[in-house]
Amino acid sequence: MTTIKRGKWRHASTWRDQVRTFVREVSPHKMDHVPVYPFLDSELPEAFQCEVGTEAYTNGVLDLALREHIDPWKGRGFGVVVAAEARSCPERLMSSVSHELAHFADLTVIAGRNGFLDLLANDPVRMSPAVRGCASKGIEAIHASVSRDRTETVPWAHHGLIFIWLCCHLEYRVWEWADIVQPHLGFAGPFYGLSPTDIYLRAAGTAPRDMMNSSLLEIAATPPPDAITELFARDCEVWHAAHPERH
Ligand SMILES: [Zn+2]
Repeated sequence: MTTIKRGKWRHASTWRDQVRTFVREVSPHKMDHVPVYPFLDSELPEAFQCEVGTEAYTNGVLDLALREHIDPWKGRGFGVVVAAEARSCPERLMSSVSHELAHFADLTVIAGRNGFLDLLANDPVRMSPAVRGCASKGIEAIHASVSRDRTETVPWAHHGLIFIWLCCHLEYRVWEWADIVQPHLGFAGPFYGLSPTDIYLRAAGTAPRDMMNSSLLEIAATPPPDAITELFARDCEVWHAAHPERH
């Protein structure tokens, strides 16, 4: 990985190309090589706008749902919708994209287990009826389909242990490879009912450096160190004790 030029994304000419180059910089592994489709929410139908206070979002089938807005189509990939606010500063935009990239890798592994998303199915005709159904029904169906994931019982749905584990790696890579001095992936802390991100990064120890040659999908499939697993379990316990109605 020493051949990667730090911060190459800054030299891309459009913000979309900056996002694509950035994703390649922080996840340069063959296993993660899927097309990247960045969308600006104001250019999309109302159903696809970011919610107020949300700078970006993704899900496992955004590429299919927004298929008609993609030209050229390069096959199944990582679709990410960003709000104008996220584009106010390139570093802020890339931090938001990194957060969504962690969701995408997490969802992909969950989907692989459930047979929901087939990233190798580049031909829409070959996609499973479930995926085709979601793509045609729009964003609500997509949200419903991906909500059955393993993070439902945590303080914030979809922001579970594997997502956090991926973010620890990405935060390191964003700093080390993409040359963003203070990335803010926003993956833990009081907002999520969890200990601060620094505590999670410390619990990750040297793993982000040790696994620099691992793809995001390999990381997602690798059990996190006990320190993170135990920290997260403790945080969840505290949160559940404070929110008995959410059991
Ligand atoms: Zn999130």
